[in-house]
Amino acid sequence: MASVFEYPKDVGFVCNGCAQCCGDTEDTVRCILLLKTDAERISNKTLLDINEFAEQVSGCEPYIYKMKKPEDGKCFFLENNRCTIYEIRPLICRFYPFKLDNLGNNRYIFSYTNKCEGIGKGPHHKKVFFENLFNEATNAIDESTTTH
Ligand code: SF4
Repeated sequence: MASVFEYPKDVGFVCNGCAQCCGDTEDTVRCILLLKTDAERISNKTLLDINEFAEQVSGCEPYIYKMKKPEDGKCFFLENNRCTIYEIRPLICRFYPFKLDNLGNNRYIFSYTNKCEGIGKGPHHKKVFFENLFNEATNAIDESTTTH
C-alpha cells in the first residue's frame, strides 16, 4: 500500500540562520536525536568516535543517539552560530522546523513549530517540498534500521 501524507498548505519557511534550533534556549531544552547512520556518517567524516559527540538514548526509535551539547546547551558542532557539519548534518536538522508523525496504516502528517523565526516567511511550500522531505526521511530511516 502506498504511503499517504498530509501537509500544511499555508506555510512558508525561510531559514534566517539564527541557530536557535541548534541547542537550548531560555524556554526550550532541545534533544538533537540521531539515527545510527547519522552518527556513523558524522563519525566517518569528522574522524571522531561517536561517543565523543553523541550519547545513546532509548525509547526514541528509530533514533538511538542524541547529540552532546557541551557549551551553553548548544550542539557539539555549533561554532560561532554556524553548523560545522552542515553538509552531513543529521536528518532531524534537515527537517526542522517540520516534523513528520506516523498515524498508522501508512498515513503520515507533517506539522511545524511556530518557535522557528523562519516560519511564515517566503512563499507557501508546495507538495513537492514535502514529498522531498518525506522521501528523505523514509530513505534515511530505512537505511538506518536495515544496516548492521
Ligand atoms: S548538527 Fe548542525 S544543524 Fe544540527 S543542531 Fe548541530 S549545529 Fe545545528
